[in-house]
Amino acid sequence: MTGTGTSAAPAERDFDIVVIGAGPSGLTAALSAAQAGYRTAVVAPGVNFADGRTTALLQASVDFLTALGVWDKLSPLSAPLMRMRMVDATGRLIRAPEVTFDSAELELEAFGYNLRNKDLNRVLEEAARAEPDVTFFETVASGFDFDGLSARITTADGQRITAKLCIAADGRNSLAREAAGIGVNRWSYPQVAVVMNLAHTQPHQDTSTEFHQTTGPFTLVPLQGRNSSLVCVETPEGAARLTAMERPVLERELERRAHSILGKMTVDGDVQSFPLSGLTAKSVSGPRLALIGETAHVFPPIGAQGLNLGLRDVQSLGKLLVEARTHDLDPGSADLLARYEADRRTDIASRTTAVDALNRSLLTDLLPVQAMRSAGLYLASRVGPLRRLLMREGIAPGKFPKPRLALPFRKGAA
Ligand SMILES: Cc1cc2nc3c(=O)[nH]c(=O)nc-3n(C[C@H](O)[C@H](O)[C@H](O)COP(=O)(O)OP(=O)(O)OC[C@H]3O[C@@H](n4cnc5c(N)ncnc54)[C@H](O)[C@@H]3O)c2cc1C
Repeated sequence: MTGTGTSAAPAERDFDIVVIGAGPSGLTAALSAAQAGYRTAVVAPGVNFADGRTTALLQASVDFLTALGVWDKLSPLSAPLMRMRMVDATGRLIRAPEVTFDSAELELEAFGYNLRNKDLNRVLEEAARAEPDVTFFETVASGFDFDGLSARITTADGQRITAKLCIAADGRNSLAREAAGIGVNRWSYPQVAVVMNLAHTQPHQDTSTEFHQTTGPFTLVPLQGRNSSLVCVETPEGAARLTAMERPVLERELERRAHSILGKMTVDGDVQSFPLSGLTAKSVSGPRLALIGETAHVFPPIGAQGLNLGLRDVQSLGKLLVEARTHDLDPGSADLLARYEADRRTDIASRTTAVDALNRSLLTDLLPVQAMRSAGLYLASRVGPLRRLLMREGIAPGKFPKPRLALPFRKGAA
């Protein structure tokens, strides 16, 4: 444990930036702030090494983690996602054709890389601790006071920290956000994600496969070797049935749902359940405060978007902080925070809407919506420029120039 508070009434510690929370968003924000030359405090009760989930990091996130100097440690622990296949397993009247997106079409080695959260968190924590300008306070932040001049934080063990900017990365139930009076829109879905890791007898061939079920996606994402992670979105009753199954029964059921594409499956470790919900903060900034990651936005684990969006928050804020440092400006100024707010609004809104729409299109029994979804996937499977546009937008929104779509489609357009 770091932090120096040992007496009953410790002195106030002053930093340039204080980060609340040491999930992947908070740890990357601390790294980015310290590397920009800011004296940075991290207040968090500890890093989560028990998280059995995996995260698919898309290419833009990999580029960012490379710039932060941590990708060379994460890369040997990750598996490349070279192809993404979507299979309509709804059994409905109108079904979409199977579509495979191949990263080679974009001249990329992979769309991204999948790795275990415990590895991600460990490498990020080690990197943050190795930064001379980062001080860890292993406790919970319990009091917040924001005004035009500073952010003042009190910790559960009575320490007091001031900073010019507070970066709130304390997750979906953020106390920092609440203390600043920033409201949220919350919603829930009648679905639960059942999550586990699997060993299997057939190779995954670096292909992530998403079976669209009527209850939500059943997604197998490659891990190293003959291993994959599974996110199976189910009704609450269906999830309860799956999690109550004896392992051999569960393994047979999963192989059936996967159409045996990976052969015989063995569950590796715990089976976890996550009720699906969504949240959007009404603002991602307040006086002396910036919200990042799940403190600002939560949506269902579909299409590997959550942390990738969170890392774009960190990157956006990081660029503004570097600029402030270069010009010797206040890192928590109202002007900087207004620019952060403006920069993040569209990306967060568009990702939230897209993931919500995709999820709801699977759930609906309305034939017109099913037909639109099927037509969309049909076009993606047949029209090369559209397929490439969807792939580009999926991995790095707005980064690539938009191609001219030759629609209505010409012969040979694909
Ligand atoms: C099943 C599933 C699969 C997913 N797969 C992917 C994927 O493939 N790709 C992807 O991009 N995203 C994925 N996501 C989303 C991704 O997991 C989240 O976006 C990410 O974990 C959020 O990280 P965070 O650091 O913002 O928040 P969190 O990980 O929630 O971290 C918040 C931290 O704040 C700390 N904290 C809370 N309160 C306080 C306090 N008062 N003081 C100090 N510290 C506090 C907590 O201890 C915690 O460590 C998935 C999500 C789920 C549920």
